[in-house]
Amino acid sequence: MSIFVLDLDGIVQDPEDPHAKLIKDVSRIVRKPYEELFDHYARQFRDNDTEEMYHLSLCNTKEQKGEVRVRWSQLHENMDKAKPIPAAKELLEVLRSQGHQIYAFTKGKVEIQKRRLRRNGISEFFPQIVYSARKGTREGFERDLLPELPKGKPIVVVGDSFYQDIEPALSRENISCVWIRWPDSDEPVPEISDDDHANLRIVKSTQELANLVKKGAFDG
Ligand SMILES: [Mg+2]
Repeated sequence: MSIFVLDLDGIVQDPEDPHAKLIKDVSRIVRKPYEELFDHYARQFRDNDTEEMYHLSLCNTKEQKGEVRVRWSQLHENMDKAKPIPAAKELLEVLRSQGHQIYAFTKGKVEIQKRRLRRNGISEFFPQIVYSARKGTREGFERDLLPELPKGKPIVVVGDSFYQDIEPALSRENISCVWIRWPDSDEPVPEISDDDHANLRIVKSTQELANLVKKGAFDG
């Protein structure tokens, strides 16, 4: 029996307007590299308002500021909308039936995540949602997440964002990581394979992970 720590967006649900998409648009508007803006989001995010201020600080003209503000207001309008990901429910059901404990780890506001999960009919699987604005950093992982988990059980961390979900957990020997590397991801993707790390497994979809769990890949 393990503790499965699941990222929500990109694992069980697809937000209509993910932050990675907004960051791409803003990087185009302010003419700064996408990687630089994404890195700020991954490592220095505090809340949406502060992130928007940071984007506005990158603008050189009034027009750019106007466009950035419009883009952020679109994100707020779309905030509650998320589609279920194929096999999400199947994954959650098989984890539960095998007796694994499920935790969500998110930097999205808990109320918003609860509304998204309810709309998609999977909120019953997530009585435990751990929030950390600094998810994506070692501090977020070690100080905000780990103290919330029961002690003495193997931990499996599942996420679709290498830098936010996987990297902070990767150097810990007692934690396994599953990176769902969607072929069409909007996020920066490093050139690594699961041969590079003993505790890393890379899959291409939530369905592939559900199949692995069914086959007992996390039993031992
Ligand atoms: Mg995600």
